[in-house]
Amino acid sequence: MKKFTCIVCPVSCILSVDEKDNEVQVNGNQCKRGRVFGVNEYNDPKRMITTTVKIENAKIKRLPVISTDEIPKSRLIELAKELYKITVDTPVLRGDIIVKNIGETGVDIIATRTII
Ligand code: SF4
Repeated sequence: MKKFTCIVCPVSCILSVDEKDNEVQVNGNQCKRGRVFGVNEYNDPKRMITTTVKIENAKIKRLPVISTDEIPKSRLIELAKELYKITVDTPVLRGDIIVKNIGETGVDIIATRTII
């Protein structure tokens, strides 16, 4: 059995997840979304990337970015390190793609601020 804290909403239910007869069973969730989270966390945990990249010719030093979808949790550190090496230049518009298909995941990294 594995235990996870559900991060779907602020209630933060503690989930107990186990597998019996090839079916993942979730206990401790107060709603259906928690069950889905528990099953996904057990089978293939994923997270959004939210971080910053270096930006030049701007009043701020780092541009906040986010992934367009979740990526495998096991690759978060590797891909965050890749982003740490990147420098972009102004102007950048919110929603601009900073990295297309990062790490061959099919997920893009986009700017969350406009810096002109
Ligand atoms: S199980 Fe439902 S109520 Fe509990 S933290 Fe997850 S989303 Fe929120």
